[in-house]
Amino acid sequence: MVTPRCQEHPRYPDPRKCAGCSAAANAAARKATEVQQAAGKEASTAARERAEVRRAAIDGCYACDNDGYLNGRVCHHNETARLAAAKGAAAARAALNQALGGNA
Ligand SMILES: [Zn+2]
Ligand SMILES: [Zn+2]
Repeated sequence: MVTPRCQEHPRYPDPRKCAGCSAAANAAARKATEVQQAAGKEASTAARERAEVRRAAIDGCYACDNDGYLNGRVCHHNETARLAAAKGAAAARAALNQALGGNA
């Protein structure tokens, strides 16, 4: 990493640490902290979103228990997907039947 320094000392930082160089160093340190905090916040947000998605999957799955387990094993909620697919197919069939019946 390049040592932050002011415009008056672009090549070498002032050995006496001029105000500009100090300010640049402080700003860089602050920026680094901000970036770090933002990254931490992002990570926790992602973790929370993952947890919410998992919770929704568990809530929507009739096969597993409240913790997402089915007979002591982690449930992949495939039953939910199958049910939704079956429901979707049934709904599509019903709509088709209705459309055909309505026109006939
Ligand atoms: Zn300087
Ligand atoms: Zn499940």
